[in-house]
Amino acid sequence: MFVPTTTQDYGDNPIKVRETDTYVTEYVRGFVEKWDELIDWNQRARSEGRFFIDVLKARGKESVLDVAAGTGFHSVQLLKAGFDVTSVDGSAEMLAKAFDNGCQHDVVLKTIHADWRWLNESVRGKFDAIICLGNSFTHLFDENDRRRALAEFYAALKHDGILILDQRNYDRILDEGFASKHKYYYCGDQVTAEPVHVDDGLARFEYVFPDASRHNLNMFPLRKNYTRKLLRQAGFQQIHSYGDFQEEGEETDPDFFIHVAEKS
Ligand code: SAM
Repeated sequence: MFVPTTTQDYGDNPIKVRETDTYVTEYVRGFVEKWDELIDWNQRARSEGRFFIDVLKARGKESVLDVAAGTGFHSVQLLKAGFDVTSVDGSAEMLAKAFDNGCQHDVVLKTIHADWRWLNESVRGKFDAIICLGNSFTHLFDENDRRRALAEFYAALKHDGILILDQRNYDRILDEGFASKHKYYYCGDQVTAEPVHVDDGLARFEYVFPDASRHNLNMFPLRKNYTRKLLRQAGFQQIHSYGDFQEEGEETDPDFFIHVAEKS
């Protein structure tokens, strides 16, 4: 029987935990329950505006596979905007919460429980677009896993499909230390989110909530140009990297990069 865990356990030496599979045990029920406090849907909707809707509509995209559904924020926004959305996540806890959140917003999510590395074993059909948002790709610690996931995303797209994948500006975190304005994504101002350890192979974040509870995520710090190289090597022909929802070059020191990778 599946018994949900409520506490995270990184063992005796948390900064040694650098494995792709860790994400499943990081999103324990206690953390998932708090995730929406962390990301604050209303504030996030204001910050993002119509960015993703406009990118998709400008290219005539209709079917969207949200591969990092989390608690469902983007799936719900896109469903409400008229897109045909399928929601995937490798965490059953997250997916269950996403479905509940969909019901709260009067939409029914089509959910599929799948890990990106074996995506096409569970997901049928080809999509106009895949979104992988909220700094999710950073959960992959092994380069082979990153290549594998991108190959699966590529295969699940139509011949002219696009992948929208975002990431924190890890270049700044690695080179200058963490100075997020906390405006994008993790914007509940009651919650602090900051790295407690950073090296070339790990960015360990700590999230502290108003009730003093603490949760962590161990992430791989992706450099922007490295991600772009992986996208190119996966076969994507055109890659545009936006900073904090601005056109390329307009935001020189963003918190997040959003890569829009086109298959043709
Ligand atoms: N996109 C959501 C958001 O912005 O709020 C969730 C972001 S959360 C940081 C990352 C999500 O990616 C989690 O729900 C996690 O379960 C999922 N994830 C991480 N690695 C995965 C993998 N290998 N396969 C499937 N899902 C994965």
